Order: sequence, then structure tokens, then C-alpha cells
Amino acid sequence: TFIAFEGGEGMGKSTQARLLAEDLREQGHEVELTREPGGTPGAEEIRALLLAPPGEGWTLEAEALLFAAARADHVARRISPALDAGAWVVCDRFLDSSRAYQGMAGGLGDGCVTALHEIGSAGLLPDLTIVIDVPPADVAARLVQRDGATSDAIGGRAADYHASVNSAFLEFARSEPGRFAIVDGNGTVEEVHQRVLGAVKRHFGT
Ligand code: C5P
Repeated sequence: TFIAFEGGEGMGKSTQARLLAEDLREQGHEVELTREPGGTPGAEEIRALLLAPPGEGWTLEAEALLFAAARADHVARRISPALDAGAWVVCDRFLDSSRAYQGMAGGLGDGCVTALHEIGSAGLLPDLTIVIDVPPADVAARLVQRDGATSDAIGGRAADYHASVNSAFLEFARSEPGRFAIVDGNGTVEEVHQRVLGAVKRHFGT
């Protein structure tokens, strides 16, 4: 069973992915907790290239190919073998991040991003993708706080870019309700975690 978390930066995705993985382990499941870009040695190297681009930056196409290459390695070497072995995979970001960032906000288009995924990762999709939803204004406030400590390395991007990423995730979720759940990201970590558990229960009936 494959679950992905999606959302813009500062939504608490990583924390929620970790908490869900801990819960699933307590329920007795074998769980691979992983993230994108990254998750394998090769994909982590590609992540480093994405987070520290050359001075002139990556072109949109090169960036999309690097994300797709990282995902291809991650799927082939880690995600698919784990799924084949019966584990649950919980992944912080997956294809829908590429669709939202490079495809929609960047302007490469959904067809192109999806085609790269077909070639690189045999079109593998999560059984459930949880979109953490926080209004753009609240996220801006969280990012100002957080970026004092960690800079938005691929970013330095404008607020309207983040807003368009956010609305892309919501649009994907609404157009494919069978594969997505939108979870309200407001409130405490524990409140959001309970909503995530509710969404997982509703989706898988466990
Ligand atoms: O929020 P997280 O740490 O998971 O994302 C790392 C960075 O990668 C963020 O700045 C995010 O905007 C960026 N990203 C991207 N395109 C993707 C996935 C992530 O620009 N497909």
C-alpha cells in the first residue's frame, strides 16, 4: 500500500508522514518512510543538485528531468521492491509535486510531466495521496518563521508561485477524488494527525 503526502512548503507534510508511519508500525505493518526528491543514494545525489543548482540555475526542462530521474531510481530501487514485499510505503512528496511545481506553476504542462513519469517510473501512482491544505496567507506566515532557520533552497520564489502550487494540488485532488484526500492543515500537529488517520481509515477501511 502506497501513501503520499503533498502540499506546498511549510504545511507540515514531513511531520505528518512520520506520525502516520509510526502509527502504521504500531498497527503491525512493515513501513518504509521515505521522501522525494531522494530516498535512495542516487536520488539523494540528484536532490543535492536540485537544492544547490549551478549559478545560472536549471532550466525548467532540466529540473523536470532531474526530478523524474530521481523518482525513477527511487521507484525502482526502493518503492516498488517494498510494495512487492508487502510493506506500506509512506512518501513525503511524489509525482503530484512535479505536476504542481514544474507542470502547473512552472508551466511545463501536465502531459509532459506525466509522460516523463510513464517513461521513468512505469506510471506508478500512490493508492492514496493526502494533500495538506493551509490557506496561502497562513503558509506565508509559517514560511517567514521557518526560513529564519532553513532557507527555501530551490525557491526564493514569489508568493504567487506558492499560491499557484497550492491551488494545483487542490485541483488535482478535486478532479481525482478516488486517489486523493484533502486534509485541513490548520490546528495542532496532533489535530492534523487525527484528520490524516481519519482519511486513511475512510480510504482503506482499516
Ligand atoms: O518542502 P520540501 O522540503 O519537501 O521540498 C523541497 C523543495 O523542493 C521545496 O522548495 C519545493 O518547492 C521544491 N520542489 C520543487 N519541485 C518538486 C518538488 C519539490 O520545486 N517537484
